[in-house]
Amino acid sequence: MRAEPTGTTGLPGRLIAVEGLDGSGKSTQIRLLHQWLEGLGLKVFFSEWNSSVLVKDATRRGKKRHLLTPTTFSLIHATDFADRYERQILPMLRAGSIVLCDRYIYTAFARDGVRGCDPGWLRRLYGFARHPDITFYFRLPLQVSLGRILEGRPRLKYFEAGMDLGLSPDIYQSFRLFQGGVMEQYDRMADEFGLTVMDATRTIHRQQEITRRIVAERIDLARYRLRRRR
Ligand code: ADP
Repeated sequence: MRAEPTGTTGLPGRLIAVEGLDGSGKSTQIRLLHQWLEGLGLKVFFSEWNSSVLVKDATRRGKKRHLLTPTTFSLIHATDFADRYERQILPMLRAGSIVLCDRYIYTAFARDGVRGCDPGWLRRLYGFARHPDITFYFRLPLQVSLGRILEGRPRLKYFEAGMDLGLSPDIYQSFRLFQGGVMEQYDRMADEFGLTVMDATRTIHRQQEITRRIVAERIDLARYRLRRRR
């Protein structure tokens, strides 16, 4: 396994991100990791993709009325991320917390790359953000992620299937084409950014064991104690 670039800004906190296709199980894994780290009495902060209140309405309106081009779609997500990065993620890293991110800049690189944005432009756009200390990429076949999504709810969502790209009038076919492209982008980035690739077809329990082991190996967890435990 290639060594991951460590945080370059010399901040006391540590940053862990999870990436992967919808349905890859990354939210499940980061939630379990969060619980474990909190149970150890550590300072932990969690942030989720596309959750900033600043651009929530613009995103919703733009998506609903199909007003967004690949560039404006990308810029809205970048604004969302920049808002969370500057108001939450960075202050928490400065304060010495372990910050957990459900999706990070690689989501934009992958999705917006498939939507036709220039890869160099995307990397410069997010150039203000430091690379995480560990980024887990939960990798699994498309069919498995599709199956997991459809077990949880009856229908695919318009944007997760990339229907805005007009790849196919059939939403399942569009999902395969769009998410297949996203997966190719992730696979390339695994090397480019030294992502930690996880076999996401394994059981939840087994993956969590591996995730915890990697985190404990690569981060000196004892330094992030909230209070002394008796
Ligand atoms: P993501 O955040 O990547 O979209 P989720 O964590 O929300 O994925 O998981 C999607 C669905 O798949 C959920 O219903 C979850 O319970 C299920 N799931 C997650 N991990 C696994 C796994 N390893 N095996 C089987 N089902 C899983």
